[in-house]
Amino acid sequence: MSIRAIACLLSLPFLAITSAHSLAALPEQPPAVEIVQIKLGLSNMYLIKAKRPILVDAGSPKDLPDIERALAAQGVKLTDITLVIPTHGHSDHAGAAAQIRRSSGALIALGKGDLPMAKAGHNDDLKPTNLMAEILKRFAIDPNYEPFVPDIVIDGTLDLAPWGIRGKAVTMPGHTPGSVVVILDDGRALVGDMMLGGYFGGALFPERAGQHYFQADLAANLENIKTLLKLPIKTFYLGHGGPVTRASVLKGFDLIDPLQHERQ
Ligand SMILES: [Zn+2]
Repeated sequence: MSIRAIACLLSLPFLAITSAHSLAALPEQPPAVEIVQIKLGLSNMYLIKAKRPILVDAGSPKDLPDIERALAAQGVKLTDITLVIPTHGHSDHAGAAAQIRRSSGALIALGKGDLPMAKAGHNDDLKPTNLMAEILKRFAIDPNYEPFVPDIVIDGTLDLAPWGIRGKAVTMPGHTPGSVVVILDDGRALVGDMMLGGYFGGALFPERAGQHYFQADLAANLENIKTLLKLPIKTFYLGHGGPVTRASVLKGFDLIDPLQHERQ
């Protein structure tokens, strides 16, 4: 046996100890989380059933009783909620955020660009993308809600690991100046009003992705969609209608899959 081989054998137990040690030192990976879609009067909100449950979006001002009922059906109390992330500051997504915080003690995390909306408790000036949206804007939307100051201001990325979630909330200005998407590492994304699922607010064909009624910055919003498609996201959870598949987003916005060549 060569000296090198003996040296090698002698070092084996040491290697075994160090590798066992480094394995033990690895941070524990939280398991994949369940996403529950909660359909409210005007919009969807989502319960992410993590170790510390969180809500993505916060409904309209009158939705609190429905929210409590929907959570109870999932075995979750309002007081279990530790974080609320309104995807943006519109009244059907941030409308009950202040009430939820008061009832639960949860923190509110909001995108920086929507701070003025939350402070005013009022929508910005909605920019319709079609005729139906013009009508909705004039006759159907109550722009007011209880104002709030968020506990966490998202400007870039908020890592969701402290809540037991492998993922992050990221600011993507487009639908509003402070729009936020939640991207999970396992290929799911919650994107608020970046797109619309189906027609009539998601009542018909909710699985078809298309243009939302309002976009503060239409071009930036489309760029956001293209940016997300560069990630291996398979399912998009929406503020109205949905969820929609990656294929449906590509079709709805007439885009070529930027990951196509990597899949062949
Ligand atoms: Zn909106």
